Amino acid sequence: MRNGLTQHSCEAKRASVHTLGCRLNQSESSLIAEQLEAAGYEVVPFGQNADLGIINTCTVTGEADSKSRQLVRSFIRKNPHAYTAVIGCYSQMGYRTLAEIEGVDLIVGNQEKLNVLDYVAAGKNDTPLVVRDRIDRDDFTIEITGDAPLTRRANLKIQDGCDFMCSFCIIPFARGRARSRSMDNLIQEARSLAERGAKEIVLTGVNVGTYAYEEATIVDVVEWLNEIEGVERIRISSIEPTTIPENLFELMNRDDHALVPYLHVPLQSGSNKVLHLMKRRYSREAYLDFIWHAHRSVPGLCLGTDILVGTPGEGESEFEETLRLLEESPLAYAHVFKYSERPGTAASRYPDKVDTATQNRRSARIRRASDVKRRGFYEARLGQSVEVLFEHEENGYWTGYTGNYIRVAVRSSEQLENEVRSVTLERLAGDYALGSLEQPALVAS
Ligand code: SF4
Repeated sequence: MRNGLTQHSCEAKRASVHTLGCRLNQSESSLIAEQLEAAGYEVVPFGQNADLGIINTCTVTGEADSKSRQLVRSFIRKNPHAYTAVIGCYSQMGYRTLAEIEGVDLIVGNQEKLNVLDYVAAGKNDTPLVVRDRIDRDDFTIEITGDAPLTRRANLKIQDGCDFMCSFCIIPFARGRARSRSMDNLIQEARSLAERGAKEIVLTGVNVGTYAYEEATIVDVVEWLNEIEGVERIRISSIEPTTIPENLFELMNRDDHALVPYLHVPLQSGSNKVLHLMKRRYSREAYLDFIWHAHRSVPGLCLGTDILVGTPGEGESEFEETLRLLEESPLAYAHVFKYSERPGTAASRYPDKVDTATQNRRSARIRRASDVKRRGFYEARLGQSVEVLFEHEENGYWTGYTGNYIRVAVRSSEQLENEVRSVTLERLAGDYALGSLEQPALVAS
């Protein structure tokens, strides 16, 4: 439902959307940008003059909170007459602080964020309108409005919220209980994304492995997407270790299936003591068993992870256990995060806090170890022929990713945007594997 105000106020108006945080936030911002275009706004890059600014915030760390505030202030400074709307996770958790920022007109939490345009008024408010409804527990659908051509991988939101309540995590408070998107509705959007040119669909959510709509699970989602014409790749963005169905491996191994050999499986810590403090649902041994089993089940599988350093109670020996697990397991890379105390979480009441210098030192060691792992994963595939979905061109080099998430660059004068092409990997250069394009086999006339 769109109120009359929006129709009246959007002729030739310029809007910009800026997103902080996760892939799920990015997928929601894309949906909002499509709604803006459908409502007649010209969507301009953030930083250009705009009449309406929508800042999609994050609250996963204290740093994310301050970045959200900085972005809001910088938009208002640059566009003092514009209508400023702040949405998302920090709006849900930090709305009082946001309401104190002069120039903010609208603050919308996660329940109504995809309906933000319903609340955008014709003119600025003296005091911000705060829309922070209780977050539903029901399964959901999303209105699909986009029709612009796509030349990149597309994110597809299939799930929201989480029931796992890890002790360090604010997400269940910000995004509510786990709930799933109706299968028909997500298939409808996936069809539209494929028709518009997206060749890779990336499944996003907060805890996608807990997808449960009527009888359907994440495997059913992947199977349905595999039937859609034009979908050449399906990627699961991130999935909790205890929620991964065995038969995903079978699908990854099938040549005629679009599910790519890639799994990002958050570990957080390699110490049973810290996993217990984190209220994670597996032990170090169970995680290792799973990772080795996955590695043996799918040739060429890329296994990535998230590691959180500096959780209260993490001593040097616990940290060393985490580092050793990363170094000695078939993990190909690790994203590292520093513990940030989040209000209302169980860990915020824990003793034995870890100081910032120690957190910095530990995250630097994980980052170095991850670089070594990633290089090893790439090096092991030099000389191989791989399929790359090309996305960007810079200085004569086209770059893109393989199914198993190798970042590839080739020198070519061809137009390769959104093309899947075969490449022979030759050597490493910085964050890339450099390769040469294989010429498609000539079809005998
Ligand atoms: S699984 Fe844990 S870390 Fe992930 S969103 Fe849920 S509570 Fe947070």
